[in-house]
Amino acid sequence: MPFCPQCRYEYRAGLRQCPDCGAELVDELLPEEQSPPSGPLVTIYIAKDMPEASLVKSFLEEFQIESFIGYEAGSAYPVGQIEVRVAEAYADEARELIAEFLSAPPEDPTL
Ligand SMILES: [Zn+2]
Repeated sequence: MPFCPQCRYEYRAGLRQCPDCGAELVDELLPEEQSPPSGPLVTIYIAKDMPEASLVKSFLEEFQIESFIGYEAGSAYPVGQIEVRVAEAYADEARELIAEFLSAPPEDPTL
């Protein structure tokens, strides 16, 4: 049965889009997040600055992927590269989403 990842409703087979919110339906819902995924974090993206890291983080959150922003080891300040990390279980999915995201970036006059 298809489900809406946004509304978490189940719809009858054959529907591809949520009639409520227009989201693309998925075959199964990931279980509601009860606790953060265990296991090591994997760096899936290296941002050049904090706004970019935040953008990637909020993008991933739209897909229910919890991400963490980390600085280079030993740095207490947001200087240099900023790593975006997710739980290992989400790493592949997150990388794909980001690749897609970057191929169609939001409007940015500096690009
Ligand atoms: Zn929906």
